[in-house]
Amino acid sequence: MIDQIKALEDKAAKALAEATSKEHLEELRVAFLGKKGEITALSRGMKDVAAEQRKEIGQVVNAVKERIGALLDERLAVIAAKEREAELAAARVDVTLPGRRRRLGHLSPLTQVEREINRIFQSLGFVIELGPEVETPHYNFDQLNFPPDHPARDAQDTIFIDEGRLLRTHTSPVQIRVMERTRPPIRMIAPGWVYRSDTLDATHSPMFSQVEGLVVDDGITFGDLFGVLNEFVHQFYGTNVKTRFRPSFFPFTEPSAEMDITCPFCEGKGTVNGARCRVCSGSGWKELLGCGMVDENVLKAVGYDPEHYTGFAFGIGIERLTMFKYGVNEIRHFFEGDVRFISQF
Ligand SMILES: [Zn+2]
Repeated sequence: MIDQIKALEDKAAKALAEATSKEHLEELRVAFLGKKGEITALSRGMKDVAAEQRKEIGQVVNAVKERIGALLDERLAVIAAKEREAELAAARVDVTLPGRRRRLGHLSPLTQVEREINRIFQSLGFVIELGPEVETPHYNFDQLNFPPDHPARDAQDTIFIDEGRLLRTHTSPVQIRVMERTRPPIRMIAPGWVYRSDTLDATHSPMFSQVEGLVVDDGITFGDLFGVLNEFVHQFYGTNVKTRFRPSFFPFTEPSAEMDITCPFCEGKGTVNGARCRVCSGSGWKELLGCGMVDENVLKAVGYDPEHYTGFAFGIGIERLTMFKYGVNEIRHFFEGDVRFISQF
């Protein structure tokens, strides 16, 4: 009997020593010490043992139970430590490996230029005003002195949503909205997207951005307009750039003018490294913006007395400004989202 018990003990100890996982160990615990386990069966068998041997054999069985229990705990500790080690090894970070560089995006050149424009005009005391991109003919045309038969009102030139709503064709409606709700003095710019029924090509886009400017006060003259726009051009392109004004026509200004600048890309020389400048086609000049004194009819329409107040307005295409500055020859580059283009700015 004792030999049998010793043999079982050896068998259990050997099996435990070979166990490599917690699951395996649990199986062994059940097999030896579980309700139906082999060692448990020994205890149950005690009642069949002769009374005079019962004490001795009982002690041996108990000792075996204790020893196997202790071996189980020991083995469990060893296996747990090994598993933890393996986990740590798997999770180890090699701090000597080079990091993975995350590519950071940056602002579109148009946004950068818009912010620069805003900064310059704010430094001249202008405030920034915004207006809706979906406008009514009232703000986009009527209040800006567009006659009823003006071609801009045609569906060929303007994107209408329905009869009463359209995508604004310029940022000028913001002037009207501001003048309707405030009184002079006004000194504002209004940057934003505008829409025309144009086909996308090298120089045209159905969507582009403008900055509108408006100053209305007592005794504002064309001299003020010259001064502000010259200052803007000099801050934006540098003081070497020269300006000139040519008479023009817009429904909402009278008199009206176009402002040209010497080509910032070739510095007015018409050539870059001996080749004809691609920005000004060799002329040395570029048309930059439209401007003029606010038409009397526009002032009257918002309830301002033109005998008392005068003002000037201008509209700048942000894409044009950017193209001249960086020598970009196609407007569509701005809208294609090509990283090779964008990352140059
Ligand atoms: Zn040029």
